[in-house]
Amino acid sequence: MRQVLQLNADYQPLKIIRWQRAVELVLSGGVVQVAAWPNQFVRSPSLALPWPAVVALRRFSVQRGRVRFSSRSVHARDNFTCGYCGLRPTLTTGRPDRHQLTVDHVIPRAQAREGKVYLPWTRKWVNTTCWENVSTACRSCNARKADRTPAQARMPLRIFPRVPTQHDVLRMLLSRLVEVPEPWVP
Ligand SMILES: [Zn+2]
Repeated sequence: MRQVLQLNADYQPLKIIRWQRAVELVLSGGVVQVAAWPNQFVRSPSLALPWPAVVALRRFSVQRGRVRFSSRSVHARDNFTCGYCGLRPTLTTGRPDRHQLTVDHVIPRAQAREGKVYLPWTRKWVNTTCWENVSTACRSCNARKADRTPAQARMPLRIFPRVPTQHDVLRMLLSRLVEVPEPWVP
């Protein structure tokens, strides 16, 4: 509840910010409060501000949410699901079990030329390690596929890997939370 969902001026979710930053933005007039935590206030000697849960920029921003490229980000983009067999391993808590998952180079490194691979589905050459050439794979699919393309291994991908869209980015950020805060749900 110490984090705040920041929306763009058109109410598209943009990013998750610290509550202190949200308060600064509210006080400077950069954002409007969209939702607050019930009966909670940020207090100072001269102020009792409803505790922000969701804020929206007053002026439209062309910035987009961003995520760092990492194995966790790849798993989150793919909803912690193997791109080949569809397995989504979970812990007893219901959280994804990332230890069962790997990051697979769809066109394998072994087939790269000068660090680049050709993606037939986008018809372009890309760096071997990039969003469009990596997929989440369970350990057994990764071992089975080995240094082969999906076609060579006869293991078609269920979804072609993509650069995360704005919607993906938000989903990826939310996947870090144990639970989506209730005021964010609408
Ligand atoms: Zn699998």
